Amino acid sequence: MTDEELLHAETFRDRVSNVTDKGKRNWIYAFKPKGKWTNYRKYLAFFYLITFFALPFIKVNDLPFMMINILEGKFILFSKIFWPQDFFIFAIAMITFIVFVVLFTVVFGRLFCGWVCPQTIFMEFIFRPIEWMIEGTPTQQRKLNDGGWTGEKIFKKSIKHFLFLVISFAIAHTFLAYILGIDEVIAIVKEPMEDHVGLLSGLIIFTLLFYGVYAYVRDIVCTTICPYGRLQSVMFDKDTMQISYDYKRGEPRGKFKKGAERTEGDCIGCNKCVHVCPTGIDIRDGIQMECIGCTACIDACNDVMESLNFEKGLIRYASENEISTGKKFHFNTRMKAYTVLLSILLVVMVIMIVSRKTVDSYITRIKGQTYQEMPGHKISNLYEAKIINKTREEIPVTLKLEGMNGEVKLIGNKNIVLKKESIGEFTFFLEIPESEVQHHSTKIKIGVYRNGERIQTIKTKFLGPYQ
Ligand code: SF4
Ligand code: SF4
Repeated sequence: MTDEELLHAETFRDRVSNVTDKGKRNWIYAFKPKGKWTNYRKYLAFFYLITFFALPFIKVNDLPFMMINILEGKFILFSKIFWPQDFFIFAIAMITFIVFVVLFTVVFGRLFCGWVCPQTIFMEFIFRPIEWMIEGTPTQQRKLNDGGWTGEKIFKKSIKHFLFLVISFAIAHTFLAYILGIDEVIAIVKEPMEDHVGLLSGLIIFTLLFYGVYAYVRDIVCTTICPYGRLQSVMFDKDTMQISYDYKRGEPRGKFKKGAERTEGDCIGCNKCVHVCPTGIDIRDGIQMECIGCTACIDACNDVMESLNFEKGLIRYASENEISTGKKFHFNTRMKAYTVLLSILLVVMVIMIVSRKTVDSYITRIKGQTYQEMPGHKISNLYEAKIINKTREEIPVTLKLEGMNGEVKLIGNKNIVLKKESIGEFTFFLEIPESEVQHHSTKIKIGVYRNGERIQTIKTKFLGPYQ
């Protein structure tokens, strides 16, 4: 087959690696990879797992380092509290994250899936190693699964699934700690079950969900369920760096014969790259949506090349253009455009975080109420104020009419004192001398003061009689 024919022979796309010709599940028995890239990923996974399980325990100034309490609309990042009123920062952060992932996908293909995605990290660095440890090599696993229910099989399967359940339980608890905070989770664990039936049911459901994913669903998450996996094909182009087989160098394939002069390409058809693949694909067929960029095939092939004294890198990180033309990686216009967009978004996000107010006020005239004429030739309007204290201290606040004569008269309170991390809601009358009210609707400004220092100015309207 010529290079051109090889590139366009795409019949492999008509089938899915984890489904048999009869439409049944084709269980993937991946061999254990070893080598430079696997080691790098192990170090990263180790760091990632420690961070994931330890982060809920870390507190700064008595505040969790990170908490995403969707239930109460309270978010803590880097021990700073963000309220639903700061949602626009989250919106920008989410857009920035998406652009970041898109840029990475355009430049490095599915790098996120292979190196950072929790599904891959948990599967390849926790659950699969446990399986190798208990059930042995993929060949032994296949034999065990195909065989009858002997005492050994019952024992091995029980231990494996018990460990899978325990780890899924720990993952579900850790996720809950990110939502409620570790103190709350510890309280739930210690207190009587009947006091937390809802949360415990949620925990059991999530434990079973994680267990189901890692014990049974596995590679189907990456090859079929994950929307990011489905979307990547629209982001790739011929300059995208990804894990590629150098068909120019590898083809035509041929068995290695010791001592004989080699007339074929460097691929000896050992299939080791296929055996280590956690999604069961053959990277020599070309770029495939099922490739999660895990680097296992690079290490497997480099091992073979090294043992034969061939140059390493028959499978390597390379763009399609690099393989077909031999030209080095090139940062194309699309990549530059995404980089500029990402830089702008990062700057906007930093500005928003730095300039974020620690006390945020909303003042509006109460709807449906008109003005009142008061003794002493004054006009009065009724207002409601919502003031959010995002700090960890009590804050006394006063309200003043700006640029006009007038008086703020709080209802029910003499002073406004905002408790730490709370939202204070107040109603007040604003009285303005008739002589100052020239129109039916006058634009006014109300200043919010903290210890005599103005921290915010709110614009609103004041209703008076028709002139
Ligand atoms: S591991 Fe390398 S030599 Fe072996 S089949 Fe795969 S590409 Fe060819
Ligand atoms: S083809 Fe290689 S990089 Fe892609 S998923 Fe399979 S082993 Fe991992």
